[in-house]
Parts: sequence; C-alpha cells; structure tokens
Amino acid sequence: MSAPARVRSRIRVTGIVQGVGFRPFVHGLAGELGVVGFVGNDEAGVIIEAEGDPAALEKFVDALRSRAPALAAVEEVSAVPIPVGGDTAFTIAASESHGPRSTLISADSATCDDCLRELHDPADRRYRYPFINCTNCGPRFTIVTDVPYDRPSTTMAGFALCAACTAEYHDPTDRRFHAQPVCCSQCGPTLRLIDTAGQPVGESGDPIRDAATWLSAGAVLAVKGLGGFHLAARADHEQAVAALRGRKHREDKPFAVLAPDLAAVHELCELDEAELVELTSRRRPIVLLHRRPDARLAPQVAPGNRSLGVMLPYTPLHHLLVDAVGAPIVLTSGNISDEPIVYHDADAATRLRPIADGFLTHDRPIHIRADDSVLRVVGGRPMPLRRSRGYAPEPLPLAWPAPRQVLGCGAELKSTFCLAKGRHAFLSHHIGDLENYETLRSFTEGIEHFKRLFDIAPELVVHDLHPEYLSTKYALDLVDGDVEGVELLGVQHHHAHIASCLADNGEEGPVVGIACDGTGYGGDGTLWGGEVMVASLVDYRRMFHLEPVPLPGGESAIKEPWRMAASWLRVAYDGAPPDDLEIIARNGVRWTHVLRLLDSELDTPMTSSVGRLFDAVAALIGIRDAVNYEGQAAIELEQRVQLDEPAGYPARLEGELIRGGDLIRAVVEDVRAEVDPGTIAARFHNGVVDVLARAAQAACAETGLSTVALSGGVFQNVVLLQRVSAALSSAGLRVLTHSRVPPNDAGISLGQVAVAAARDRATH
Ligand SMILES: [Zn+2]
Ligand SMILES: [Zn+2]
Ligand SMILES: [Zn+2]
Repeated sequence: MSAPARVRSRIRVTGIVQGVGFRPFVHGLAGELGVVGFVGNDEAGVIIEAEGDPAALEKFVDALRSRAPALAAVEEVSAVPIPVGGDTAFTIAASESHGPRSTLISADSATCDDCLRELHDPADRRYRYPFINCTNCGPRFTIVTDVPYDRPSTTMAGFALCAACTAEYHDPTDRRFHAQPVCCSQCGPTLRLIDTAGQPVGESGDPIRDAATWLSAGAVLAVKGLGGFHLAARADHEQAVAALRGRKHREDKPFAVLAPDLAAVHELCELDEAELVELTSRRRPIVLLHRRPDARLAPQVAPGNRSLGVMLPYTPLHHLLVDAVGAPIVLTSGNISDEPIVYHDADAATRLRPIADGFLTHDRPIHIRADDSVLRVVGGRPMPLRRSRGYAPEPLPLAWPAPRQVLGCGAELKSTFCLAKGRHAFLSHHIGDLENYETLRSFTEGIEHFKRLFDIAPELVVHDLHPEYLSTKYALDLVDGDVEGVELLGVQHHHAHIASCLADNGEEGPVVGIACDGTGYGGDGTLWGGEVMVASLVDYRRMFHLEPVPLPGGESAIKEPWRMAASWLRVAYDGAPPDDLEIIARNGVRWTHVLRLLDSELDTPMTSSVGRLFDAVAALIGIRDAVNYEGQAAIELEQRVQLDEPAGYPARLEGELIRGGDLIRAVVEDVRAEVDPGTIAARFHNGVVDVLARAAQAACAETGLSTVALSGGVFQNVVLLQRVSAALSSAGLRVLTHSRVPPNDAGISLGQVAVAAARDRATH
C-alpha cells in the first residue's frame, strides 16, 4: 500500500495571536503531527504553510483553535490548498511588515504560575527578579509603541538581550521563544528605591526589602507599576493611610487594597465563587467585595463603606513587595485629586513629591497609562465599573460590522474613546474626567496611538450632544480642521447608554431601555437622566421620564445634594415646601437663598435625572449635604439600605411622567416620624424599582416588545439593578444588563460607535 499523497495549505489565523506564544505553539504542533512548512507573523496575524498527509493536516488545523495558548484569542482560521513544496522541516519565519495592519494586541496579563515558580526558586537565574515574564504573561499594551509586535516596537527596545536570554528567545521549545519583553537581571530593567531628592536609599541593597521596611514604618511610597505609578501605604497603618489621604486631597473616596494572597483576601472580605474567578483571573481587576466587620484595616481606607476594592498582585514587582510587607497594602492611583495617573518618571518626581516619602521605580518606560480595572459581581456575572488595565485594548465584537471606520468620542466623566473597524470595537482604557488639560491630552494622544496600532482612519466621528463637553469640541474641531472626508454624527447621551448595553449583549434591538443616570444632554436641550425609551441601535423614542425639576445653580447642585432636596421639596409640595425640617435648619440662610434662586428661574436648568433624585433623598435623610467625589451621596444611600425592608413608597405614572414628588413626600413623612434612615433608604429604593418596572411594562405593552435593557451610571447601584431586573423578570420580560462594559459614561463611546455603525448599515 502506498503512503497517502501529501497536501499543502496556506493557513491564516486572526485574533490575538501575536505576543502570546502562538508561533512556538504552532511549531510544537507541527513536530507532534509530522507536518512540515513554516509559520510567521504579519500585519494581519499569523500565516502558516503546512504540508503533510491529509489526516495530519486536518488535525493540525483543528488544533490551531482548540489547543491555542492561554493568552491567545483565535477569531478565524482559514485554510486554502496550495501546491506542495517539498519542505523537509517546519520553521519559524521572521516577521514581515508590509501591507495593511490589522493585527490585534493583547492586554497586559498577570504573572503566570511558571514565572512565579521561578521567581521564588533560589536556583533559578531569575530568582526574585521583579521583571520576570514569558510568552504567557507580562506587559503588553502598556509597552507597545507600534506594530507588528516585536521587541523594537516596545519600550524594551533599549535593553539588549544577554546571551542566556538570547538563547531562550531563539529556542522554539522554550517558554520564552519570541517573548518580546523577555529579560533577566543581567540585561533587563532594574529597580531602585530613591528619596524625594532622587538619591538612592536603603540599607539592605535590595530595593524591595527596603521599600517594605519603609512601608511598615508608616511611609507613603510611589511605586511604578505596569500602567502608571501607584501610591502605597500599609493598609493597617492608621497614620500612613491618613497621611496618604490628606496629601492626595482625597477626602472620602475609598482606596483599593492589594492583598498578598487569597488567604489574606478571605481575612478582609467575604467572597463567592464568581468573585474568586474574577479576582484570580489573569486580568486581575480590583473586585469590590463585601468587607468583614473585623477586617484589620485603618479606618481611613474606605470610610463608611460596606464594601472594599481588593486585588491580587499582577506583576512580579507587586508579588515581591506585598510578600515582603506580609500584609495588605493600599494601592491607589498615583495622581493628585482628579488628574490622570502619572506614568513618566520625570512627572512622578515633580507631581508625586508632595505625597510620597520615596519612590520605588525602574527604568522600563511605560508607553501608555492604564489604570487598574474595577468590577463588581452581580448575580454571578461581572459588572465592570472601569474597564482598563488587563482588558484594553482587546476588541469587543460588534455583532454587525461597521461599513466605515468609526471614532466614538464618548462623554466627559470617566471618559473613554472607541475606534471601530469591521467587527472590532477598540474601546480605550480609562482616560478620566475630561475637564483639565492633562486628561484632554491623554485623550487626544490615546486616539492617535490607537489609530496607529490598529490602522484606523475614522471616516465617521461620533459625539455627545452636549455642546460643552471637551469630547464634543474635539469632534467638531476635527471637521473645522484639515481632516478631510470626515462626517460627524451627534448621538443622544441616553440613547448611547442603551446602545452600549445592546452592543455589550450583541443585540440590535428594538428594546425598551431604562437609562438611570446622572445628567446627560437631552434631545430637547434639557438635562435628562431618568428615561424609559424604545430604542434600537439606529434610533430611539422617549416614552416615560422622571418629572423634570430645576437644578439650582447648575453644576453646584451636583456637588451639593442639599440643593436638590430644596428643589424636589418645592416640586413635591407645589411651590409651598415645608419649613420645619432638619435639613432646612441645618442649612440656614443658604436654604433661603436657593429657594429664591428657584423662584427667579435663573441658573436653574431643568433635569429629569434619577441620580439627582437619589442625591435629594440622601440629603433629606441626613446622609450627606455635599459630595467630594462623583455619585458619593447616591453610593452612601445604597450602602444604608435595610435589605430586608419589604415596603416601598408609592409613585404614580401620569402621562409620560414618572412622579418623583410622590416619593419625596413619602420620605418627608417618614423623616417626620423619625423612621430609621436605613428603612427610608430601602422604601425609597423599592418605590423607584416599582415605578420603573411599571413604566417599562407599560412601554412593552404599548410597543409589543418584551426585552428591557438597563444602563446609565445609577445602575452601578446593585440594589437598584438587582431589584429592577427581578421585577421585570417576574413580569415575564427579558432583561439585558452590562457585563463587558461599564453602565456608566465609560460605555458611552461604545454605544456611539454601535449607533453610528447601525445607521451606516441602514443607509449604505
Ligand atoms: Zn510567565
Ligand atoms: Zn538576560
Ligand atoms: Zn450618562
């Protein structure tokens, strides 16, 4: 019997297939199956020519997907037959870089188990080396300067490989074969502990051990990590945490904590299986967990908060540092108040000097900043609050390809941008609040970087309708400027929220959408934020909304919830609010001033925002009159909810209005009856849940729809989210919520892109 004829295929693999050990994997596979040919990287991904007997080749092609390396995300494998070449071996070809780029870049990934073993093995040549990595782990997005992903296109370009690292890099059987950031203590970056004058300090000669000693003595250290500088202090050290808070000008906003290991996490918090999965994933987000009452933490870590943001180490440096300290440390963004996280050494030296007692830093440059990601687990599923390090720039799939290349400029707070090409939506890392020069620069530079990396030249630019957002101005300037052939599209803020939820779920609608939000510019020029709409990706129609009330003093009403209480009382009591409440006595003469301002109708834009209604109630029951971070009053109101309270306040639907005044009067009656604030908070939540569910059901009945999408910043409130979902589900409706992008304004840019792509599809 003669041997079966050999066949040859040209195989193209796309997805995240570069920088993740794909070529050595293919090489190994070829050896195993007796296949000859070659594998190489190019701008579109991985290209393979494989030759062997037909059965082996079939297995080979199947395994490319089914056995792909840990960090790979294979999207497509296509094979076309070509004439046999008669190779005698399987080789790895050098990278090519011509033609259009369409390769993907992996997110930064937590240190893998193999590297951790070596890190702790005294016999290994990388023992305690704080920059150990391999093809299965380490820095990616934050060090990539260009594509294709090769060492010269990373911030490792300046570190020449030593002989031992070179050998590993070129050995197809080695875990570090073509691992671009590979290095060791002989050839790679070095760590230093320096004082605020830039002078090396420390007794032991080991910067990690010295830094741990400093932290244990109560110092605040700036630590250069993966996507920027953190500020660190021992989480159980009262003075250190208080000093960090004071110097950073951060009054109440909770700090996140880095725990040495899972055992330490269990001592701080309660966690379930789904939370454990998120916490230990290679993306290593901060997970908001239920904190134990007896957790050993300085009170200033997360004042007045039932939950705690916790993460596990994700770089060798963090592993070594937190192990050396032997206790959880606060690890918070290295910045002053609302500025973006510092990521350049020179910047750190000046900006962080007033906060840090010393710097644990190194000489591997960070090319792009990436803050830690934050999520909560709701009903067994992750709900991102910030999608950044560990996730960006991996694309989100668009269920329908964008006909033209699109840029979504996002909103203003928690800003992100989103670029889309074909089926890929590249949602940016967290940029921050677009209200100062630093953040704006980070926004514009980030867009340029993404355009280059993913070879996107947007023909369609989408912006919010708010004329004062810097993101809107950026979009308008593009068209005023020299950029030719760019078309602009304005998308209403809450339509974008619902569209982001649709895109998150791979759907196009129409659905009934409930957008509960802070404030967003409405289609009628007023400020919206409590909207029940019928929406598809293409369009929306407002069906119900919270009754609008004046926002006394505009922006200042957002920072001072007591002003919203005054406004809501006036509406609830038809212009004649009660004058015997504690909140009035507490606020004295400024209360009278605000009532006068409301009468004058000057500087009092109208808003239907649910977020502002929550603010008003928080102030009315004495939780908070002024906030020092976004959403604080509403967050603290949620924290107070007496979870087993069954009652809810009544609220009417009247025409297209959701009557908030009903809720406010019920709150006032309970305040007068001296009902406990936790019970009032619960009855208010239950009342809001009930009226929103009724509005959504009415909208469904009128339109014949049976799916409801929930989005907007107020849905970060888990009590509200879970109870609205439950009410709708028990009414037989299907509920869509967020699990890939945040429900807050960080998701707006994706929603904008989804709307633009859908409209483009409808007209092209
Ligand atoms: Zn590794
Ligand atoms: Zn080396
Ligand atoms: Zn919003």
